[in-house]
Amino acid sequence: MDLVRFIRDVPDFPKPGILFKDITPLLRDGAALRETVHQLAARVRPLRVDAVAGIESRGFLFAATLALELGIGLVPLRKPNKLPYRKLRESYALEYGTDSLEMHEDAIKPGERIALVDDLLATGGTMSAARRLVERSGGSVAVCLFVIELSFLNGREKLPDVPVEALLRF
Ligand code: AMP
Repeated sequence: MDLVRFIRDVPDFPKPGILFKDITPLLRDGAALRETVHQLAARVRPLRVDAVAGIESRGFLFAATLALELGIGLVPLRKPNKLPYRKLRESYALEYGTDSLEMHEDAIKPGERIALVDDLLATGGTMSAARRLVERSGGSVAVCLFVIELSFLNGREKLPDVPVEALLRF
């Protein structure tokens, strides 16, 4: 099944010059969604991970469905000030300014193997911060997994020494 045809290009969103990869047609189609989750699971299953960690907010959609498919739990990595309990924070650079991700400090136990999931790899800054959160908690990143990779942005270079996988590349 060709998943590429379920990705809609939206020019100049959220600002001029950005070609936004819209995953909502893929989410809306039952067969495409199921195929996506099956393909993600096929990449992760051999790695014997303990949990999936998903990045807010589109990453949650794939992380949660993947966790269910694998029969393992989910760790949400959230935007600042959303999580209620004690947490770790990591910041990353945006085009203008910075943003942060937070994770509950007891979400991952030392030695656990984690599959990190987001919808799309662009510059790699977001996933790099997510990786630091996992590693600060004593976990190890078994894979950084994406539905889409914008390979011309070389985001992989910000994720050295860890497997990086994407179902679709542009
Ligand atoms: P980055 O930190 O540059 O790798 O950006 C990745 C994050 O930004 C992901 O959570 C994506 O959802 C979002 N993102 C960046 N560029 C795009 C794009 N062209 N289309 C859709 N989402 C994007």
